[in-house]
Amino acid sequence: MTGTRPLTIQIKEKDNVAVAVHDMPAGTVIENGVTARDPIPQAHKIALRDIPAGGEIIRYGVVLGYAKADIPAGSWISEHMLTLPESPSTENLEYGTNLVPMEDLPMPDRTAWMGYRNASGPAGTRNLLGIVTTVQCAAGVLKVAVERIRRELLPKYPNVDGVVAVTHPYGCGVAINAPLAPIPIRAITNVIRHPNFGGEIMVVGLGCEKLTYDRVLPPEDITPENVLTLQDWAGHDAMMNAILEMADRKLQKLNRRRREELPLSDLLIGMQCGGSDAFSGITANPSAGYAADLLVRGGGTVMFSEVTEVRDGVQLLAARCPDAHTRDRLAHEMKWYDDYLEAGGVDRDANPTPGNKKGGLANIVEKAMGSIAKSGTSPIVEVLSPAEKPTKHGLIYAATPASDIVCGPSQVASGIGLQVFMTGRGTPYGLDIAPVIKVCSRNEMKKHWFDMIDISAGDVAEGTKTIADVGTEIFHFILDVASGIREPYSDQYGFHNDMCIFNPAPIT
Ligand code: CA
Repeated sequence: MTGTRPLTIQIKEKDNVAVAVHDMPAGTVIENGVTARDPIPQAHKIALRDIPAGGEIIRYGVVLGYAKADIPAGSWISEHMLTLPESPSTENLEYGTNLVPMEDLPMPDRTAWMGYRNASGPAGTRNLLGIVTTVQCAAGVLKVAVERIRRELLPKYPNVDGVVAVTHPYGCGVAINAPLAPIPIRAITNVIRHPNFGGEIMVVGLGCEKLTYDRVLPPEDITPENVLTLQDWAGHDAMMNAILEMADRKLQKLNRRRREELPLSDLLIGMQCGGSDAFSGITANPSAGYAADLLVRGGGTVMFSEVTEVRDGVQLLAARCPDAHTRDRLAHEMKWYDDYLEAGGVDRDANPTPGNKKGGLANIVEKAMGSIAKSGTSPIVEVLSPAEKPTKHGLIYAATPASDIVCGPSQVASGIGLQVFMTGRGTPYGLDIAPVIKVCSRNEMKKHWFDMIDISAGDVAEGTKTIADVGTEIFHFILDVASGIREPYSDQYGFHNDMCIFNPAPIT
């Protein structure tokens, strides 16, 4: 980065492209003396040198693709001008070659937060009654019941933050014994015990579904106190009363919970990005990565995910795995997803959206390099399948889909207490079980959605703040939201997405 208000940003010295900080007219002379031949839209790439047909186009020090035709220096490089390279092999990945020692991570200036302690596992960031359905058939009844619980019961219990109906499309009309069925079943099983639900189990079923209680609860928890079957009740009023009575008993217990001062080792958070642009990898994601490093250094646990958005950087992740077992788990999850996409007749480049491309991301390689930045620099201590719970503290890779609305629920099922969400283009996305903090990559985005985006990392591109500045700001915001001191915009407005759990198994 040159000067305080750069025109373009080049990431690595060997890069032969840079990204325009603002819309740039043709004729602009950029930092390296090259003149823009075309108007360069904000966040899009300009060629720093002549690139011959077939030549490598390099950003982040990696090959994004190969030029389809000669590209003179100063040209705008659109997504149509390059071909996609082969994705790196998942075989024989080198591991342990980039293990940043704990003492090299930045030291946080805050090592405690206020949370709801649980009997085991991470602490809660909110005190919620979570009512989980075993089947979508019960969703309509449950949504009406939850409205009544909020209106009629919740005011009696001031220490409870809210009531959540966990409804999802799974449960019946599914091949329940399919080899892939354990993935959605695990998500439902684990969300029942989300840290924000304080160990209070409330499960509502219909009575004839395939997802029976014994598939999501151990025998000792299948009791009249915890499970309620709609078909057992005679008509609307009896059914509603039964749900409200069960909820009332659970609320009484939850109301006794209090926040207490806890170490960062009791905090588990998730990182995700969506609606990315070419700035996401320069400003928002590296800043979030710095916050991740602070949390890990302080003993906390940070999860990142999104297989198709890291697939092209798998060798970078393997280098951060401390042992062969973790590397093998990583390779296995990548290979599983390659096969899953292939079975569906697509490959990883089905990922970038029209919005990503408008935001300057040419293809999935460019998107991946920016996406990985949100994991910071610490070693990857554990690799998980979708919706599995971590068993370690530190940086965790959970192999979920990259889709915002599926990654979120998957990380929630893994037990995250909140999610930090980086965006370039903007999305109102939010989750009702765990707060979502929105970080945007450009100041223009923050100006546009001034009352919907929590933090802008755009000053990093303007040269007025460093990644450490914004990263520290995100870190404090995380602890404030986790402690219940602050509410992100998505919670203030109640912008909450549905529980779109990942079901790769057949529906019958
Ligand atoms: Ca995403």
